[in-house]
Amino acid sequence: MSKNNCHKNCCDNDSDSDCDGLSAHQLFGTGDGLTYNDFLVLPGYIDFSAEDVDLTTNLTKRIQLRVPLVSSPMDTVTESEMAIAMALCGGIGIIHHNCTPDYQAAEKYKHGFIRDPLVLGPNNKVSDVLTIKKERGFAGIPVTDTGKLGGKLLGIVTSRDIDFKTQDILNEPLSSVMTKSQHLVIGADGITLQEANDILEKNKKGKLPIVDKDQRLTALIARTDVKKHRDYPLASKDENKQLLVGAAIGTRDGDKERLKKLVDAGVDVVILDSSQGNSLFQINMIKYMKNEFPNVQIIAGNVVTVNQAKNLIDAGADGLRIGMGSGSICITQEVMACGRPQATAVYKVSKYARKQGVPTIADGGVSTVGHVIKALALGASAVMMGSMLAGTTEAPGDYFFSNGVRVKKYRGMGSIDAMESKDGEGSRQRYFQGENDDVRVAQGVSGAIVDKGSIHRFVPYLITGIRYGSQDMGIRSLELMKTKTYSGELRFEKRTASAQIEGGVHGLYSLVTNRTKLSKHLN
Ligand code: GDP
Ligand code: GDP
Ligand code: 5GP
Repeated sequence: MSKNNCHKNCCDNDSDSDCDGLSAHQLFGTGDGLTYNDFLVLPGYIDFSAEDVDLTTNLTKRIQLRVPLVSSPMDTVTESEMAIAMALCGGIGIIHHNCTPDYQAAEKYKHGFIRDPLVLGPNNKVSDVLTIKKERGFAGIPVTDTGKLGGKLLGIVTSRDIDFKTQDILNEPLSSVMTKSQHLVIGADGITLQEANDILEKNKKGKLPIVDKDQRLTALIARTDVKKHRDYPLASKDENKQLLVGAAIGTRDGDKERLKKLVDAGVDVVILDSSQGNSLFQINMIKYMKNEFPNVQIIAGNVVTVNQAKNLIDAGADGLRIGMGSGSICITQEVMACGRPQATAVYKVSKYARKQGVPTIADGGVSTVGHVIKALALGASAVMMGSMLAGTTEAPGDYFFSNGVRVKKYRGMGSIDAMESKDGEGSRQRYFQGENDDVRVAQGVSGAIVDKGSIHRFVPYLITGIRYGSQDMGIRSLELMKTKTYSGELRFEKRTASAQIEGGVHGLYSLVTNRTKLSKHLN
């Protein structure tokens, strides 16, 4: 019994007529543009359990994720709530740029050592804490003599200091409600996260301020984060245990100011957001970023050809985003006549990028777990999703009812709706449209997506699906999957039109809809 996908181990001899299916090279060598639905992966030999499948992958040259999933920088998909949830689940969220630079920069979320906690002074009022609680969601605020990080720690205010008689004490100074520093449990600068957590556990406190030898505040630790660490073992974090986050920017001069704010806020990876990335603007921006902010990882794109990819890789891109016209809300191929079917684009670009050591993200056109698995099998290191994640609790926007169904808005960033919105500059740039252009050419549409519940249930469902798919192929890790694709050992087969009908649901008198099936999986 062979453990190889190709039973005769004859993969370097693709012409052998006994070989099942085609190598990826043969599948994509005909010149046809293929989509994910146009082919299948042939199963392999299983001698391990699905939980053993290692989904670790590189998002960029330097950033590794435990789960190959990315949420798209769209204003109906990723703001802070989505970015936090994606990172906790092991993927990453990319915050969109249809908003002011300040708003986008404020979305960086802390975890582990909070290196720049929000700090107030003794004369700030209780009402200031309530405002922070409303805007940022936390109320544990250290108080220092200067009202800033680095000032002498005087005390700390937490929800419990102000949750009784709030109305009566709105104008009280914090000095009269805070727990004073002599009563505080504190950690000394330089202790490890493990030691800090042990102190929190022993003393049952909610916050641990960290101070240097002169009692100056240097960081803060929140108990809730230790708990989250236990609950989310796959979470994507940096060396300080802060959650990873990405943000999108454009390539105009004004974006340099946005970039600076994002870097100051601690962004880990920046996506240059363009529907056609092979431009002088983008190449110049990559060079500028590499010069000014060498520590920030850059994902360039979008690209669909090797030529486009080469220019961006040569300029210094640390990752590439692949896709033009395959998105579910996208009409680019119809309007602009340019683009490429997504499976072909992912295979061709990833194969070239791999030789240069640059990971790729398959962006758009994913509507099932099977599509995610196929994108990975074609060489993508991660998969970016818009519609799959829109409609979840963590996506921006409110639910509303349409014909009795609970839905959320989902729109293309190149839709008229997005480009003409108040903060639509990011959209206009992505699709090369000037602020004052009289005529706008839409490259996307606007619509609604059915409520999918929380990311915290949906992403684990996707992760399990990817693991089962990989198990069916007989492959234990994403890295091995790539190796087998390029060696020709992983076998593929084209699907005829009738094969696609056969592979879908057919012949039933009645059908429980996808929506119901999905909720059954998730509940
Ligand atoms: P590593 O060995 O440095 O990769 O880190 P671990 O993940 O093993 O964690 C080391 C210590 O840091 C343990 O006590 C963890 O509970 C703790 N830790 C990890 N992530 C977080 C976090 O986000 N917040 C806090 N407060 N502690 C964390
Ligand atoms: P609090 O008790 O109201 O402060 O809230 P929790 O401690 O339950 O949760 C606060 C969450 O916000 C934690 O996950 C923190 O890591 C996060 N956070 C991010 N930035 C800050 C900050 O500047 N100060 C505080 N206190 N928390 C922050
Ligand atoms: P989906 O996951 O919904 O199939 O596709 C999401 C992707 O479509 C995004 O990550 C982005 O690359 C692309 N996209 C978003 N909005 C538009 C648009 O209006 N027009 C086009 N052409 N692509 C879009």
